[in-house]
Amino acid sequence: MLAMTASAAPFLPFVRPDIDAATIAEVGKVLASGWITSGPKMQAFEAALSDLFGGRPVRTFANGSATMEIALRIAGIGPGDEVITTPITWVATANVVVAVGAKPVFVDIDPRTRNLDLDAVEAAITPRTRAIMPVYLSGLPVDMERLYAIATRHGLRVIEDAAQAIDSRWRGQRIGAFGDLVSFSFQANKNITTIEGGCLVMNTPEEAARAERLRLQGVIRTGMDGMDVEEPGGKFNLTDVNAAVGLAQLERLDAITARRAELADTYFRCAADSGLQAMGIELPQALDPQAATTNWHMFQVVLPTERMQGGPAQARQKLMEAMRERGIGTGVHYPPVHLFTYYRSLGWREGMLPHAERIGRGIVTLPLFPAMQASDVERVCAILSETCKRLSQ
Ligand SMILES: *Cc1c(COP(=O)(O)O)cnc(C)c1O
Repeated sequence: MLAMTASAAPFLPFVRPDIDAATIAEVGKVLASGWITSGPKMQAFEAALSDLFGGRPVRTFANGSATMEIALRIAGIGPGDEVITTPITWVATANVVVAVGAKPVFVDIDPRTRNLDLDAVEAAITPRTRAIMPVYLSGLPVDMERLYAIATRHGLRVIEDAAQAIDSRWRGQRIGAFGDLVSFSFQANKNITTIEGGCLVMNTPEEAARAERLRLQGVIRTGMDGMDVEEPGGKFNLTDVNAAVGLAQLERLDAITARRAELADTYFRCAADSGLQAMGIELPQALDPQAATTNWHMFQVVLPTERMQGGPAQARQKLMEAMRERGIGTGVHYPPVHLFTYYRSLGWREGMLPHAERIGRGIVTLPLFPAMQASDVERVCAILSETCKRLSQ
């Protein structure tokens, strides 16, 4: 009884999709139109995305993972090739490299940005390296000038896993508006969603034509009745129903990004008021905030697990449980991929990537979505502070 009266505020999840009435109406129109799979809405969504990315060719796919796999195929990555990437990512990043028969090479992260350490990237380049796959964790870009300087110097492709980085910027330019192959996800938790979906920004109309074939079995049509396949593809097209959701979301992109930035500012203010850093909790950090602008896809902190009850192995779980009991949802993005059983079977072990391993044990995603209020952020910081204090040894 006491517990129930104590937590009067409704449960706050760490993310909640926001689909407005106009979007629902658009979906209804598509469903009633007689054309529900890939068609005019998908094309309109691709055109709108191309506008967003400075006119570069864009094609959509069924999800962000398929988008990255097709990007790897377009870049010609296959058996015998090495692709350098980060272990602090959604496992899809590494899995797609395996899916095309290549070898993911994990390098350590910069503990401040939690993104690929570009010194470590350079050190990991071998004669077999064909590509770099950076991930912009929580939407924060890496040093894009340095990334492309390394790629150019060593003749490497760059497949950007920008799944989380729609509307993030580097020196004012949108991620996707420049660079090599840039992959986005529109999965339900991302800043804008198509429920499931993704898109790839490419360099040339030839790459875009190949992407179209690879997403639909490799089929090439000629005339009314001609059909051929030169290279087998998969079934990765985005439906018009999903595209209608995406078009409506895209209209709100500016507002979504602005609202997330406001809430992130509130987090920094409340974190200072609650003394989070003084307790050893690490806040998000950009090395050069003038250059790298995040879209605040997530607001993540790293716990001082060494000083907490349960130690590095259990501190986070205890804290997440305690926060849940007080009505606050949290998430983990991500446990280090190189320590999953499959990747261990390829030879990866504890101790190889110490920053990634420490951050992987202590990172926690706090609630952040546009419908939240400043008072929600204040409550999260206060409860995090109290909980962390209580669980500290
Ligand atoms: C969401 C995400 C993906 C994959 O996207 P799906 O649409 O879920 O397949 C890949 N990488 C990162 C970093 C992501 O956050």
